[in-house]
Amino acid sequence: ISVTDVVDESYRRIAQVEDKVKAFLALDEERARATAKTLDARLGTDDSKGLLFGLPIGVKDNIVTEGLTTTCASQFLKNYNPIYDATVVKKLQQAEAVTIGKLNMDEFAMGGSNENSSFHPTYNPWNPDYVPGGSSGGSAAAVAAGEVFFSLGSDTGGSIRQPASYCGVVGMKPTYGLVSRFGLVAFASSLDQIGPLTKNVEDSAYLLQAIAGHDPMDSTSLDVDVPDYLSALTGDVQGLRIAVPKEYLGQGIDPKVKDAVLTALKTLEGLGAIVEEVSLPHSEYAVAAYYLLASSEASSNLARFDGVRYGVRADNPKNLLDVYLKSRSEGFGDEVKRRIMLGTYALSSGYYDAYYLKAQKVRTLIKRDFEQVFEKYDVVIGPTAPTPAFRIGSQHGDPLTMYLNDILTIPVNLAGLPAISVPCGFADGLPIGLQVIGKALDESTILRVAHAYE
Ligand code: GLN
Repeated sequence: ISVTDVVDESYRRIAQVEDKVKAFLALDEERARATAKTLDARLGTDDSKGLLFGLPIGVKDNIVTEGLTTTCASQFLKNYNPIYDATVVKKLQQAEAVTIGKLNMDEFAMGGSNENSSFHPTYNPWNPDYVPGGSSGGSAAAVAAGEVFFSLGSDTGGSIRQPASYCGVVGMKPTYGLVSRFGLVAFASSLDQIGPLTKNVEDSAYLLQAIAGHDPMDSTSLDVDVPDYLSALTGDVQGLRIAVPKEYLGQGIDPKVKDAVLTALKTLEGLGAIVEEVSLPHSEYAVAAYYLLASSEASSNLARFDGVRYGVRADNPKNLLDVYLKSRSEGFGDEVKRRIMLGTYALSSGYYDAYYLKAQKVRTLIKRDFEQVFEKYDVVIGPTAPTPAFRIGSQHGDPLTMYLNDILTIPVNLAGLPAISVPCGFADGLPIGLQVIGKALDESTILRVAHAYE
């Protein structure tokens, strides 16, 4: 089997199912086939091959790719053709993966259903009446539908883990700073991380291995040695201490989700792990703090979209102010505007202390909750999301309900910790995800636990 065969198979599958799934915003077929040909020339030689040699990958459309549109699923960037590659994209090339195309998402990664894409929704491969989750819904759906071998997403408040949970694939958010954000279009810079979506935990370890590591182009990138994640997959969880926060199985959690998680914990106990209940008392404030902080950062990050430097400029403006006003009014969707307004308000001088500063303090308390638990435990386990995927349209236009879907993933971003979602069952034909949260930079342990379980 050649790389060309593998890449052909990926495009063949896309041609077959993409009508129903709608995971992609752009395909890079010509370049992918040329890359496959180059790699094929090395097949059968004994020169060393990249870690991801010849494997077809999809990339979320907020990660910049040279010469391939990067739209963030926004009308504002519908014509944006980057002149450079994100660090993770360079790393994929070094690992000799083949980029197949760019994946749909909620506009600027704001959302949890892909319904905020300004181009088209993506459909859950398990049932097209249901959302795939978001914001990395295209990344999760493409893997679940077998269109690509694996994909990259980004996670600011759950955007890798929640769609992984809804689509029945494995999704990991690495420790903040482990993977470079250079070339990731910023949403909330203190929370954003790029990470892998894969069919299983072993693939997740491979992809993380390829993209992790220090990058001088990202000032928040951690200068640490990257461990060998594959050697962590021992299957052994004997004596491992698992904390289960009572807040993660309480009010608002679908009983079928709760059952699936409790069954998974029994399985882990059967493998020799020790399971105990703990409390993360500030969990209930996480969603409120997140939406203040993430929107504040977004309002600042999205100020660069002014109709002058990037993307689309509105026609016939009256003057410079009108260039900004018209371009932003026409270019951004409702959810993006909502966040910019909320963030601008929270950061304005009269309200800064009452909102932004207070939210920062809550963030510290949430971080401390985790630190205390991790003094005694190796991992924290709970559901990834309170429910399985919901029906398309059922929460659209109801932002508060939509925001609550991330109640179990947001605390992890606020604390900067790594977490992985791994499938743990079904309810009414829709997948459920188990979330394993680890200590900072302890990706090895969450991979080990998820791998032993799956
Ligand atoms: N759903 C959350 C939001 O809308 C998380 C998004 C993300 O992680 N990018 O902000």
